Amino acid sequence: MALVAGRAVAGRAGDEQARAVLRSVFGFHAFRGPQADIISHVLDGGDALVLMPTGGGKSLCYQIPALVRAGVAVVVSPLIALMRDQVESLRQLGVRAAYLNSTVDWREADQIERAVEAGSLDLLYVAPERLVTPRCLDLFDRSRLALFALDEAHCVSQWGHDFRPEYLQLSFLHERYPHVPRLALTATADHRTRADIIRQLRLERARVFITSFDRPNITYRVTVKDNPRQQLLTFLRDRHPRAAGIIYCMSRNKVDDTAAWLTGQGREALPYHAGLPAAIRQSHQDRFLRADGLVMVATIAFGMGIDKPDVRFVAHLDLPKSLEAYYQETGRAGRDGAPADAWMAYGMADVVLVRQLLDASAAPDAHKHAERAKLEALLGYCETPRCRRQTLLGYFGETLAEPCGNCDTCLERVDMWDASVAAQMALAAVYRTGERFGAGHLIDVLRGEAGEKVLRCGHDRIKTFGVGAERSKREWQGIYRQLIALGLVSVDSETHGFRLTDAAIPVMKGQQPLLLRRDPQADTSRALGGARRSRSTDPTTAPASAAPMAGAAATLFESLRAVRADLAKEQGVPAYVIFHDTTLKEMAVKRPADRAAFAGLTGVGSSKLERYADIFLTAIRRLEGA
Ligand code: ADP
Ligand code: ZN
Repeated sequence: MALVAGRAVAGRAGDEQARAVLRSVFGFHAFRGPQADIISHVLDGGDALVLMPTGGGKSLCYQIPALVRAGVAVVVSPLIALMRDQVESLRQLGVRAAYLNSTVDWREADQIERAVEAGSLDLLYVAPERLVTPRCLDLFDRSRLALFALDEAHCVSQWGHDFRPEYLQLSFLHERYPHVPRLALTATADHRTRADIIRQLRLERARVFITSFDRPNITYRVTVKDNPRQQLLTFLRDRHPRAAGIIYCMSRNKVDDTAAWLTGQGREALPYHAGLPAAIRQSHQDRFLRADGLVMVATIAFGMGIDKPDVRFVAHLDLPKSLEAYYQETGRAGRDGAPADAWMAYGMADVVLVRQLLDASAAPDAHKHAERAKLEALLGYCETPRCRRQTLLGYFGETLAEPCGNCDTCLERVDMWDASVAAQMALAAVYRTGERFGAGHLIDVLRGEAGEKVLRCGHDRIKTFGVGAERSKREWQGIYRQLIALGLVSVDSETHGFRLTDAAIPVMKGQQPLLLRRDPQADTSRALGGARRSRSTDPTTAPASAAPMAGAAATLFESLRAVRADLAKEQGVPAYVIFHDTTLKEMAVKRPADRAAFAGLTGVGSSKLERYADIFLTAIRRLEGA
């Protein structure tokens, strides 16, 4: 594209060029968050460490300097599987990009190397193990380099979740190429990893850019389990009848069963877990990335490097391992900034499991203490009557001043009720039956249901028998679930019987009042898509409804999706490489009538205008006339 070949630009002129590239190449109208500052800093030759959540817009921070600065920008990324799609996305924008990794044959590699040397490439993606080879370094020595971008920089940290030893070797870059700016980018923000990145990559003099880890376009919901499969199906039908999403389950069996069941219900779903042969896993992953609107049912084995931007929902049918894991997993939704859902169903069995883990880790050492704190925080998140986003960000040390208006507890007010008397009954039932029974039996006793087991144990003769008949089974389950979550009741790891903890005593004796949350009705269709208070007016981040569009725009959107699907198939690229959902939705709402209007859409730069304006304008006209 040779936008500004041969010129090194900094200062104000550089900032202006950056803005021009943002508009003409990417078709975006404004920088997001700290993008402008980061780009300006790099154009001035500075190093930077960029900590931004998934979907925050990290790529632009090196792609724009790559186009403005002279020479080729080298992007180091551990995710070989993604390089092809990243490069394809850039080529669609008219950017001269290529990648070098083990999947490229020598003939092609030779060509790419010559292009690097000749200065006719803007961006080169390389795997870290490739970069450190003498051949590659020789090439760089002979070439003009615009910058190094070290993506997924947390891979350098042994503390992190995906340590790559090859990353440690990247520390020499600053010695060998002292005048080439380096950007390290990651979505992992914890302090230990951050310090590690700085030390290992010798970024002591880099400027650190940290943004909020909030993902405003994600709607968080936690639903109390009551026939979870049906709840899932209702959620899918109401909110995501056609969109792509991930459903996480704990076990391989549950993954297989859920995928088969959903497919049987008419919703195509693919399983993914470590027990499947590698070839099947690969093929399912490819289909998920490329096809439009597939559902992936998976264990946590699925996730690393899934940067499909149009995942519209992440659902949990089991509790994640921790809030860190939950944030990572739900973070795979809505990378494109369009509305997305994080939906979780949890219930008694999940809470019982966590409580058992907690009690099993009762040893006083520091590691176990940290483990316990994590599990407590997870239960706290599930049971909170407060804004979920405030709770989640608070856990990561970030303060959100106002409730978000885009989570279930904000959208549907949570009632708290004085449960002191009910809790006394529930705890007394545990006590008087000898601390050996689980919820089912205890609730029978409370409700005065003299079944075979109750009679056999003589529990129809104890004082608590029948005292709670006026409450439904579901209500009592909600009460026990919360008593466990709050740590008033523990669960024996062998007998699974409920036991009282010290914290239960004052409540049971009526010395301490207890407020519990009133579980909403299990009907998931209720209140979904209800009125929302939106915090933001930025159309790219506004938490508008993730529910399908309505009316004529919806019909047009579906038709435009079909046009996009044909184009993607023709070119053998994922649909989002042609246009993101955000652009397609804007198109369906604004119905541009000519090229000028089309050029005004977010995500339409000059290259995409040339390639696609006529095709989509014709489609819109045809459908208007129909
Ligand atoms: P990250 O790498 O931080 O996860 P990406 O760089 O993939 O995020 O960007 C996420 C999405 O946001 C992409 O769809 C990208 O096109 C879009 N995006 C980034 N910056 C802007 C911007 N300034 N205006 C509009 N969209 C943007
Ligand atoms: Zn909220």
